[in-house]
Amino acid sequence: METFTSHYIDGRWQAAGTGRIAVGDPATGEVTGEVPAGTAADAAAAVAAAARAFPAWSATPAADRGALLERLTGLLAARKDRLAAAIVAEVGSPASFAAAVQVGLPLATLASQPKLLGEVGWRREVGHSAVVREPAGVVVAITPWNYPLHQIAAKVAPALAVGCTVVLKPSEVAPLNAFLLAEAVHEAGFPPGVFNLVCGTGADAGEHLVSHRDVDVVSFTGSTAAGRRIGALAAATVKQVHLELGGKSPNVILDDADLEAAVADGLVKAFVNSGQTCTALSRMIVPRARLAEAEQIAASAVANHPLVDPATETSGVRPSVLADKLGHVGFTFALGPVVSAAQRDRVTGYIRSGVEEGARLVAGGPERPDGFDRGHYVRPTVFSGTSPGMAIVQEEIFGPVLCLQAYDGEDEAVALANGTRYGLCAAVWSADADRAAAVAGRLRAGQVDINGARFNPFAPFGGYKQSGHGRELGLWGLEAFLQTKSLQLP
Ligand code: NAD
Repeated sequence: METFTSHYIDGRWQAAGTGRIAVGDPATGEVTGEVPAGTAADAAAAVAAAARAFPAWSATPAADRGALLERLTGLLAARKDRLAAAIVAEVGSPASFAAAVQVGLPLATLASQPKLLGEVGWRREVGHSAVVREPAGVVVAITPWNYPLHQIAAKVAPALAVGCTVVLKPSEVAPLNAFLLAEAVHEAGFPPGVFNLVCGTGADAGEHLVSHRDVDVVSFTGSTAAGRRIGALAAATVKQVHLELGGKSPNVILDDADLEAAVADGLVKAFVNSGQTCTALSRMIVPRARLAEAEQIAASAVANHPLVDPATETSGVRPSVLADKLGHVGFTFALGPVVSAAQRDRVTGYIRSGVEEGARLVAGGPERPDGFDRGHYVRPTVFSGTSPGMAIVQEEIFGPVLCLQAYDGEDEAVALANGTRYGLCAAVWSADADRAAAVAGRLRAGQVDINGARFNPFAPFGGYKQSGHGRELGLWGLEAFLQTKSLQLP
C-alpha cells in the first residue's frame, strides 16, 4: 500500500490536513493507496510558492533548466518499475502496457525537452520591433487518470523547460504516480517552488487553483464537462486556458481498403487501455456493401483482446509497440479492467442503452465477463446496426465499446465522421494514398492516422470543436507556455 500524507510545496513535503482520498485497485476493488485531499489553503500555499519562484526560474539560462530536466528524466527512469507498478495498481493497465506506454511515453517527452528548447524562436525582428517570447508565468496543470504520467509530463515538462513554475493537481483517481514524480523532482534539485504538487478533488483543490488570481495559465486535460466549468471559472480572472478534452473518434474505412487489416487495427485502437483513451477510435465507418464482412472480422478479432489480471499479464508489449503494425490479424492485445466501479457501471449502462435503442451486438455485452467475479471488468463490445443519433454513437463512453456505422458513398462517410460534437482524432484507410489524404483533409479533427499509422508523441496534439483548444507535445507543447512581447526599437 502506497500512502502519502503530505503535499509537495515550496521544495518540501508539507503535512496535509486530515482529509484523505483512497485509491482503489481496479482489478480487485481493494484500496491500495491513500493521498491527502487538498484544500483552499493548500492550493493558495502552492500558488504563492510558484509565484515567488517564478522571477528567478524564468531568468535561469535555458541550458540550466534543460540540464535539470535531464537529471529528472534519469531519476524517473531509475524508478520506472515502481512507477509502472503504481499505474498498474491505480489504473488497471496491463503490466507490459504500463511499462512500455504509461511510463515509456512520459520518459520520451521529458527527454525531448532540452533539444526542443533549442528550437524555440525566442527572438525575431519585425520592422523596427524585436518580438520576444517569454515564459507565461505560474501554470496550473490539472490532469486525468487514464494516462496519468503521460498527461502530467505533457504539461509539466514543457512548462518547466521554458521557465514557467508549476502547480500540479493530478487526478484523485490515479495520483500515486504523481507523488513518485514529486520525489524525483526533489531529488533532482529543482529550486523550491518551481514545481509543486497538491492532490485533491476537482471541486475542491481544483477549483481553488483555477480561480486563483496569481495563476497565469491553466492547462487542463479531462472531460468536456469539467473543461467547460474550468473555462468559465478561469474567465473571471482572464487566464490563458488550454483544454484537452474528450473524443468520439471516427475510423473511416474506404471501399478500397484492406478490410481485414483495417478492422483488426481499428479494434486495437478502440480497445487500447480498455477503451479509456481520449483518442480511442470508437466509431468504425464502413462501406454498407462490406458491413457484414467487417462485422465477421470484428467478431473474430475480439478474441485477440483477452481480459487479464493486469499485475500478472505478460503478453509482452514492448516500447517499440508504438512503432509496430499494431493490430494485424492475430496480434494479441490484452485488456485490464476499467478504472473504477463507477466507470464500469457507466460503460455497461451505455451498452444497455445501445441494445435498448435498437443497435445489434456483434460481440460482448453488458454482463460481467466469465471468470472475473471481482474487479471492474467489462467485456470488449462491438455494436452494428447503429444510427447516428444513438447515445452510443454520439457520446464518449470511455470503455471498450466500438460502434460500426454503415455509409453509402464518400460524402456520407465524411458527414458521419464529422457528425459528433467532438474532433480530437480520426483515421482513414484506403489503398490509394492520395484518396486517403483527401478524405483526411475533410475530417474536422486535430490528428488523423492514415492506414494504421501510429501515434507520434512529438507532433502537436489537441482537439477541434468540443474536444478542446490549444496544442500539446513537441515544439507546440513548449509554445503553449510562452507569452509574446514586442519591443519597439528606436
Ligand atoms: P475529469 O474531467 O473528471 O477530471 C480530470 C481532472 O480534472 C481531475 O484531476 C479532476 O480532479 C479535475 N477536475 C474535475 N472537475 C474540476 C473542476 N470543476 N475544477 C478543477 N478541476 C476539476 O476527467 P477524468 O475522468 O479524470 O478523465 C477522463 C476524461 O478525460 C475523458 O473525457 C477523456 O476523454 C478526457 N481525456 C482527454 C485527453 C485529451 O488529451 N484530449 C486525454 C485524456 C483524457
